[in-house]
Amino acid sequence: MEHYLKQEIYDLVKKDGEIFDFIQKGSLDGIWYWDLENPDNEWMSEKFWTELGYNPDEMPHKASAWQGIINQEDFKLAVEKINSILSDVTQPPYDQIIRYKHKNGSTVYIRCRGLVIRDKKGKPIRMLGAHNNITSAINYRIEKEISQKLSSLNKMLSNKNAELEQFSYITSHDLQEPLNTIISFSNLLEIEQDKLGEVGQKSIEVIKTSANRMKEFIISLLEYSRIGSDKEKTQVDVVQLIENLKTDLSDIIEKSQATINYIGKPLKITAFETDLKILFQNLIINGIKYIDEKTLPIITIDFEEESDQFKFSVTDNGIGIPEDQFEKIFEVFQRLHSRDKYSGTGIGLAYCKKVVELHNGEIWLDSVEGKGSTFYFTLSK
Ligand code: ADP
Repeated sequence: MEHYLKQEIYDLVKKDGEIFDFIQKGSLDGIWYWDLENPDNEWMSEKFWTELGYNPDEMPHKASAWQGIINQEDFKLAVEKINSILSDVTQPPYDQIIRYKHKNGSTVYIRCRGLVIRDKKGKPIRMLGAHNNITSAINYRIEKEISQKLSSLNKMLSNKNAELEQFSYITSHDLQEPLNTIISFSNLLEIEQDKLGEVGQKSIEVIKTSANRMKEFIISLLEYSRIGSDKEKTQVDVVQLIENLKTDLSDIIEKSQATINYIGKPLKITAFETDLKILFQNLIINGIKYIDEKTLPIITIDFEEESDQFKFSVTDNGIGIPEDQFEKIFEVFQRLHSRDKYSGTGIGLAYCKKVVELHNGEIWLDSVEGKGSTFYFTLSK
């Protein structure tokens, strides 16, 4: 396809500047006109520059002006395409989507089209083209693609989570039965322990301790996999919930001589009650458990109401946690101490995190080793 600018049109445009002015100002496209015999000489319409965020008066009519803000990969491709069109008259007009850097730093997507103008001998002498700003269409497509991908990822993730929860529920549930059999038979054997030798007695003790630890694990895993199974949020009276917890934990509280204070105002919130109770329970038990032998535990629970969430804090006077472990302790099965020193499964804080996330909140902590820790968590209103 050959494109010659008809002499009459060229003369008309030259003679009647108003026509050209009308074309370039009235057009929704930016227009450019490139002198291939003096390649840095190029004329660009006002729209060409305003679409890219520039004041046309600041920008020289030079190809180097746009070459400074074009995406370099797209520029390389443009040079290749234009060279191939210039050397082959049979090619369709130049047409490419090009990224430019807007004056404000954002990316502008331009569909750039151009016609080659040749002299009578077919030698390319000019190019005339248009810039069509398609940024909003491209951004819309990108956003749509991203949101589609995200929603399918979320779906996949929630399916996998549900599968995983189902799996851990079934396995822990099924494991309980043989475990209970082991515990009952070792209890039976314990009654008859006089008949066993020293090795037999020791073995029974080890079997019982291990089986009980496994039971503790299984119960925690079951609780963990059941988070959110309440399905319905209900009105929860926080003061009452803590009072009930104190009753449930009275054995541990008495043994450790712990003090548990709720210093917040009376508060009713909408939450998954069972999960919230276990969340407080885990933080309180940790506060009681991770303490120096000579110190009596003091746990203080407080809350602040913020515009769109409730922020709770649970402070203890325990051994504290090194700062580089602040993230790790919220992962399942992550523990900082040996089982001989402090018992536990490493599920408690992972449970807390999951419950908080279920309420669209966050959990974090401050801690000073040897002085104590404060766990904060938010629950959205
Ligand atoms: P568990 O207590 O069953 O080991 P958690 O998930 O509740 O599991 O806690 C993970 C680890 O974080 C604990 O093993 C302990 O090392 C540390 N930790 C948790 N709470 C406290 C606390 N209040 N003070 C000091 N260390 C803590």
